[in-house]
Amino acid sequence: MTQITSRADCQALDQQDALTSLRDDFILPDGVIYLDGNSLGARPKASLQRAQEVITQEWGTDLITSWNKAGWFELPSSLGNQLAPLVGAEVNEVVVTDSTSINLFKAIAAGLQIQAKDAKRKTIITERSNFPTDIYMAEGITKWLDRGYQIVLIDTPEELPDVINDQTALVMLTHVNYRTGYLHDMAAVTTLIHQHGALALWDLAHSAGALPVHLNAANADFAVGCTYKYLNGGPGAPAFIWVPQRHQAVFNHPLSGWWGHESPFAMAPGFTPTPGIRRALCGTQPIVSLALVGCGLDVFGKTDMQAIRKKSLALTDLFIQLVEQRCASHPLELVTPRDHHQRGSQASFKHPHAYAVIQALITRGVIGDYREPAIMRFGFTPLYVRYVDVWDAVETLRDVLDKQDYDTNLQRNAVT
Ligand SMILES: *Cc1c(COP(=O)(O)O)cnc(C)c1O
Repeated sequence: MTQITSRADCQALDQQDALTSLRDDFILPDGVIYLDGNSLGARPKASLQRAQEVITQEWGTDLITSWNKAGWFELPSSLGNQLAPLVGAEVNEVVVTDSTSINLFKAIAAGLQIQAKDAKRKTIITERSNFPTDIYMAEGITKWLDRGYQIVLIDTPEELPDVINDQTALVMLTHVNYRTGYLHDMAAVTTLIHQHGALALWDLAHSAGALPVHLNAANADFAVGCTYKYLNGGPGAPAFIWVPQRHQAVFNHPLSGWWGHESPFAMAPGFTPTPGIRRALCGTQPIVSLALVGCGLDVFGKTDMQAIRKKSLALTDLFIQLVEQRCASHPLELVTPRDHHQRGSQASFKHPHAYAVIQALITRGVIGDYREPAIMRFGFTPLYVRYVDVWDAVETLRDVLDKQDYDTNLQRNAVT
């Protein structure tokens, strides 16, 4: 990138940017620079009308006929098909349903069952730095099963080749680390996992909608991810799960609810899973929330993940460059990889007073978030973050740090 030395340089970049017009598809409050779309994506404008339509017409007027007429029953799969190209999946391989935690449960359970034919495969490898719920869900299942399964936590990605062996059942990794933004090489790591006869379960919470993902090309085994982060589905919007065609017939999980049945309305007393991806479903979905996922996905239909990735890297490069130049006198340490091949769509810096500084930034309208230990995390969502936002965010950070305009005695909020 050419050297950016002024706000005007950033405005010029925005003018040339092919994604600029997509910002108009979102509601963003005046005076706010939103660098937390990696935690809760901004609201697509279309979502208000969609919610009104679902509530007044589909629910209010059409009542129960909407299960057929409005396609409610098909929503998990129709939205899954709309999402599929963003993660390199085929049609009929993704459903939008339940939460990421619950989908992890299904994938871990199904994966362990597939591997159970080999009695020595008793370990699940994941990273100590993984998002806690991923580790907790694995812990929950293995403890509950009580069949000698163990969770092995690695501290760096480089440890995987030494730790994986013929006792590994599953390797469960988050593609982009939520704290540091470290990006795994999905294809290479999946190949390594398969060389040892293990299965690769990828969590795409910080990848889906943030960068191109190629699940089938990488020959991955299972994947899950959130829709309320980069996909802008709304707070608590249902998550997704991907099971490739080649595993669908053997994908059996214990949450065998009626939506996964081969003929749910036969009301048979016994469970027979449907042959396709809908066997990953459990029960009735929160339709109002689910319907809004489509509004976020519609915006992605106007561009492509290559364009998004290009801008994402430019934004994070610029942020890192400006922070290092303009806040050079302060004890900030970049914890996000500089190498593009290892970076997601965020930039995280350590600072001794990270929590207080983040709170001061939020007070001034620059919204990032705090993550233990002492990390300030800034997410860059190319659909609505501008280059000029990067400039203004760094200037605000510089001012807060220069003036020490933050309160180190703050009580922590329940949600940081
Ligand atoms: C955000 C996130 C989750 C969230 O899980 P929920 O079930 O939606 O609470 C899970 N895993 C990772 C890696 C995440 O980043």
